[in-house]
Amino acid sequence: MDPLDAADLRGVFVNTTKGAASRIPVPDLTGVRWEHLDFLGWRDPGNPGAAFLVTSYDGVPRGVALRLPSSKGPSKRQSMCSLCHTVHSSSGVALMVAARAGRAGREGNTVGTYLCTDLACSAYARGLKKPDRVQPHETVTAEVKVARLQLNLEAFVRRVVAVA
Ligand SMILES: [Zn+2]
Repeated sequence: MDPLDAADLRGVFVNTTKGAASRIPVPDLTGVRWEHLDFLGWRDPGNPGAAFLVTSYDGVPRGVALRLPSSKGPSKRQSMCSLCHTVHSSSGVALMVAARAGRAGREGNTVGTYLCTDLACSAYARGLKKPDRVQPHETVTAEVKVARLQLNLEAFVRRVVAVA
């Protein structure tokens, strides 16, 4: 994706108020390899329940604020990321929930998906970061994995921004 600065990042969130977006803690962008990213994802170091991702959607940058569950429920936990299909130990994947954009979100509608908790899907898909677990055998190339990640990401963002 194309490089963005901190002000750009705060200006593209589709599912937060402007006030909330202005308080989003943007990470240090020094050394970010934008050309290897399908999205920039990060956690809020001061709030374990908050995560953020910014990607290009329909050719423009879009940001989605996400919430993580505050407690681990007793239900079975999925351990595969829905975006990059990387399999982790259970703490490596979490159900993240996004308020939908606009009126739907203000009325409490959300969209959830299972994501790598480190939000490093782009690096996993490219083989730039090794997951902590042995992966199920897949014969697909990194190019196919990246294309799959992009499709899944686009589908997720579409669900967030879709007009109700
Ligand atoms: Zn992932």
